[in-house]
Amino acid sequence: MSTDHPPSPSPDPRDRAWIEVDARALRRNARRLTDAGPERAGLIPMVKADGYGLGMAGVVAALAPLEPWGWGVATPAEGEELRDLGVEDRVVVFSPLPPGTEARVVRARLTPSVSDLETLDRLHAVADRPVPVHVEVDTGMGRAGLRWDTVDDWAPGLRSRLSGPLLWEGIFTHFHSADEEGGPGVDEQLARFQEVLRALDPPADVIRHVANTAAILRSRQDDLGVGLARPGIGLYGGPCGPDLPRPEAVVALRARVVRVVDVAPGSTLGYGATYRASGPERWATLGVGYGDGYGRAASNRAEVLLTGRRVPVVGRVSMDVTVVNITGLDGVRPGSVATLLGQDGEGEIRLDELAGWMGTITYEVLTGFTRRLPRVWLPSSTD
Ligand SMILES: *Cc1c(COP(=O)(O)O)cnc(C)c1O
Repeated sequence: MSTDHPPSPSPDPRDRAWIEVDARALRRNARRLTDAGPERAGLIPMVKADGYGLGMAGVVAALAPLEPWGWGVATPAEGEELRDLGVEDRVVVFSPLPPGTEARVVRARLTPSVSDLETLDRLHAVADRPVPVHVEVDTGMGRAGLRWDTVDDWAPGLRSRLSGPLLWEGIFTHFHSADEEGGPGVDEQLARFQEVLRALDPPADVIRHVANTAAILRSRQDDLGVGLARPGIGLYGGPCGPDLPRPEAVVALRARVVRVVDVAPGSTLGYGATYRASGPERWATLGVGYGDGYGRAASNRAEVLLTGRRVPVVGRVSMDVTVVNITGLDGVRPGSVATLLGQDGEGEIRLDELAGWMGTITYEVLTGFTRRLPRVWLPSSTD
């Protein structure tokens, strides 16, 4: 008798819980954001954090037909991942480089953004080929960039270092409150950025860029003659402010019912028994939990679609399963598909709604989905 294991059948990615990504909606959001920007602006989709959790390879395949100017990542490793995927386009690393990663950046032909002169010195030491550089200006975000209010101190050192193999390709800043309607932050930061531009007077071909999704939708880049739009969340379906147009939904989270049970009044549910049946009730257990990124804060708060109708999450979300109260709802059995995010028939659970239940923001919901959830692209990311 052979002791070899038979080849395991390729698992159905939809057998338990999964993420569905709508490639066409992603592309339509990208087109709308490109149209909303200034006419000559190039597009640099932000694909950091594994394409905001959707899967970098799928996002790149879906957006490649738009022929973006380049791709935005946060870390050298993410840039290398793009190169491994065969991406030959420009790749800008937007977070400050951890010291010691400069040689990797040069080797992978990545475009670093720089926040201090020391990084430029370290790049000089390893640059054996031309390295385009984007200079970040800190106009109030406080986490990266050369400070706007000390430009006179660093301008001469910056100019002298942007020489030889280091090519000055771009200069940018990042807004802290572009999602707030009428907030004073954007005007103040733009004024500071313009002050720095006046002091530095970069050559005309140095690309000036400022706009994340919210700033694109507020047309806050038009007056700069800006050459790049850097959308992230709006590509992936996250709304950017109550007064701004909503992007199309791109992501759904679905999970199978794995158990249905009828319980007597007073029955307890979940860790801590935080829920008790108030009468005879029917409960359905879903194969999804915080180990998948369905946050525990949704316990006793969130709603889920089953057969197109909203039902409440009851008891605590646990690592692997979540229970909903389906009392009075017919037709739910093990194998039925619940929608925790996205559309089911006429019903829809919106991304910002789910974020509210989870006590966080849309960005963290998307990037928090774990490896246990297969990403299923519908249609395939290149269709
Ligand atoms: C992440 C990021 C963006 C995208 O911001 P969204 O709010 O997701 O559109 C733009 N610029 C920089 C520098 C970023 O780090």
